[in-house]
Amino acid sequence: MALREIVITGHPVLRKKAKKVEKITPLDLQLMDDMAETMYNAPGVGLAAPQVGVSKRIVVVDVGDGLFKLVNPKIIYSEGSEIDAEGCLSVPGLIGDVERYTKITVKATTPDGKTIKIDAENFFARCLQHELDHLDGVLYTDKASNMREPEPFDEEEEIDDEEEDETEESESESLIEKEENIP
Ligand SMILES: [Zn+2]
Repeated sequence: MALREIVITGHPVLRKKAKKVEKITPLDLQLMDDMAETMYNAPGVGLAAPQVGVSKRIVVVDVGDGLFKLVNPKIIYSEGSEIDAEGCLSVPGLIGDVERYTKITVKATTPDGKTIKIDAENFFARCLQHELDHLDGVLYTDKASNMREPEPFDEEEEIDDEEEDETEESESESLIEKEENIP
């Protein structure tokens, strides 16, 4: 497996309609492995092949319930709608609010050539709709309102600082102990 470079908005591949995969080749399997590694490394919850410069209808998604590698995915059922914040690895440093279906069913081919149907809701459904849009050259920024920079995670940074302080203290304590133990 290898990390691939994620292309950023402005790259023409992000605006192309990706090609259907007629036959899954070893190169496609390699691509899916690389895409998964690249997604986890980013870190992200989904990645579409055009985002690594490959105009093929392939996506990988993992919202915490396991990794899905999907070839030629297609929405065959949709229901409801909700608006929530979204970001994209190809549009760094921004989020925006996008209206998506609440529930969808996606039909796709797995890496071993089986046809599956996935029922997805809420965040998983949102993520799949976002990735499938990439295959049609659509970016979430086309549909988003209230584009903005995400809130910084101040609280987490403070916790990290405290933890570092504690580590330093215990290190200096153990140094003192060692010095006292010197005969
Ligand atoms: Zn994206």
